[in-house]
Amino acid sequence: MGEPVEHRDVADALVIGTGPAGLSIAAELGSRGLQVIGLSPAEPTAAWPNTYGIWCDELESLLLADMLGHRWSDCMVYMGSTATALNRDYGLIDKTKLQTYFLHRCDRHSVVWHQGTAAQINHSSDVSCITTQDGKQLTARIVVDASGHRPALVQRPPLANVAYQAAYGIVGRFSKPPIRPQQFVLMDYRADHLTADERAQPPTFLYAMDLGDGVYFVEETSLAHSPAIAFEELERRLRQRLAHSGVEVTEVHHIERCLFPMNLPMPFLDQPVVGFGGAASMVHPASGYMVGSLLRRGPILAEAIAQALNGASSPQQTARAAWQALWSPERLRKYYLYRFGLSNLLTFDEPQLHDFFHAFFQLSKPQWSGFLADTLTMPELMLAMITLFGKTTNDVRQELLKASWSDRKLLWRSLLAQ
Ligand SMILES: Cc1cc2nc3c(=O)[nH]c(=O)nc-3n(C[C@H](O)[C@H](O)[C@H](O)COP(=O)(O)OP(=O)(O)OC[C@H]3O[C@@H](n4cnc5c(N)ncnc54)[C@H](O)[C@@H]3O)c2cc1C
Repeated sequence: MGEPVEHRDVADALVIGTGPAGLSIAAELGSRGLQVIGLSPAEPTAAWPNTYGIWCDELESLLLADMLGHRWSDCMVYMGSTATALNRDYGLIDKTKLQTYFLHRCDRHSVVWHQGTAAQINHSSDVSCITTQDGKQLTARIVVDASGHRPALVQRPPLANVAYQAAYGIVGRFSKPPIRPQQFVLMDYRADHLTADERAQPPTFLYAMDLGDGVYFVEETSLAHSPAIAFEELERRLRQRLAHSGVEVTEVHHIERCLFPMNLPMPFLDQPVVGFGGAASMVHPASGYMVGSLLRRGPILAEAIAQALNGASSPQQTARAAWQALWSPERLRKYYLYRFGLSNLLTFDEPQLHDFFHAFFQLSKPQWSGFLADTLTMPELMLAMITLFGKTTNDVRQELLKASWSDRKLLWRSLLAQ
């Protein structure tokens, strides 16, 4: 378990990272009366680099709707010749506001931030000690690793074929609106602008929104592919798509290059460090969303940690209780079912993808929205998937049946994970 650790200045919890996962869990732990310290290479006030989209009802149910910076009611999906109105509001998080909200909560509960990069961890029977790259040591009764998709400390089994969501986006002005004014486009998989050869390549879609004052965000997105689709290819496709509609980019305000893993394996749930956020494989494996899930699951994790620390347990015992709360058997089963869904998506060609999503958005709104936000119970999720199977084409059904054999391990785990 490593070298002995001195007991000077022992905090209850040490949080690694100040992204959405780190700040939210630090605030939740602090609000339970725990003495929390945090560690990150940058100041906790350093701006988050990513733009976060979310379904508005997810924030409303958490009484956080005022964290929205933008909101759209005209939300569309385009698949081949079919246009589907989603009748569900989508929003962009005002990330400065959300970050400030968490920082204020952390301040109120006296969270102390340290600057540095976690390099090593040692555990004793009652505390864990982090050593930073520049040799500083920080000690706590439990360490929460929220350092993102390539975690500093959390260990997981290797996976050969990691599938990445990749996107290339432009925020700017255009010679004419690239989408309808005041519109949000979740997915536009229309591919008339591509040659037959290009259409045989892995499909990508347009994710786009009107940001107001003549500014739009347009992003060519690969939902998931292994290896990741290159940014150059995504940019080429985006420009080709815009040119096909007679749209020119006239001003570039910001370029977004988005890349993150979708199917990271479950971390080892018996390790003496707990993860949260990307570090804990919390990205929804079939949609790529995570922020709503962080906000819903942070209080559950913090409560489990507070209770375990109340019982004066070792880092190993506390982390075990924390992992079990974060990844309960039902959550684990859903995770494997979503991963099964993702591995299907990876095999579909363009027509199959169209048929699949066409059927998906024909599910009842509670079903498709609960699937995307990960708010369905396991029986509800199974029912949604069976309904989708019934609604889709024979071609897609055949692919799903084939996958239920080739990906039977994921399917078994979705039934049996403990
Ligand atoms: C461009 C992009 C767009 C995305 N858009 C959305 C979206 O619209 N909606 C959605 O729900 N999800 C989205 N995601 C997915 C996911 O929500 C994000 O990746 C999210 O930022 C993950 O949060 P996190 O806090 O786990 O990690 P991060 O945001 O990556 O934060 C990690 C933190 O850990 C720190 N850190 C790293 N290593 C160390 C170390 N060794 N020691 C100390 N600190 C360390 C970093 O400095 C940082 O503060 C997006 C991802 C990307 C990349």
